[in-house]
Amino acid sequence: MATKAACPECGNMCLPVNMQTMKHHVKKPWLDGQANGKLDEQVDYYFCPSQGCATVYFSSQVQIKSNDLRLEVGVKSENESALICYCFDVSRADAANPDIKAYVTAQTQAKQCACAVRNPSGRCCLKDFS
Ligand SMILES: [Zn+2]
Repeated sequence: MATKAACPECGNMCLPVNMQTMKHHVKKPWLDGQANGKLDEQVDYYFCPSQGCATVYFSSQVQIKSNDLRLEVGVKSENESALICYCFDVSRADAANPDIKAYVTAQTQAKQCACAVRNPSGRCCLKDFS
């Protein structure tokens, strides 16, 4: 798997995301010809975190947009109520509170988080805290 690839919509260099993560976020992945028609086990996909870019996942062949996902992608939103930590229900406003960040850090160190499936990026959310 390549390390990074450019988002075809915004040009941001994006990190890879695995198929398990996408299956937990794309709408009705069992439906043929819709969102899951874009999920090809044989190709590499990437996650674009850019605000203002509608592309969430992409491969060399397809783009999967925000409205193909079940939930709003918090890091792509400017809303204070947008979710930053999907494991522990932390909004952007909450993430500015050092006590809440400390809680999430402790839970992560105790391996109580589930970023690989809960977070649309498939990665730890702590880097997204202010
Ligand atoms: Zn993008």
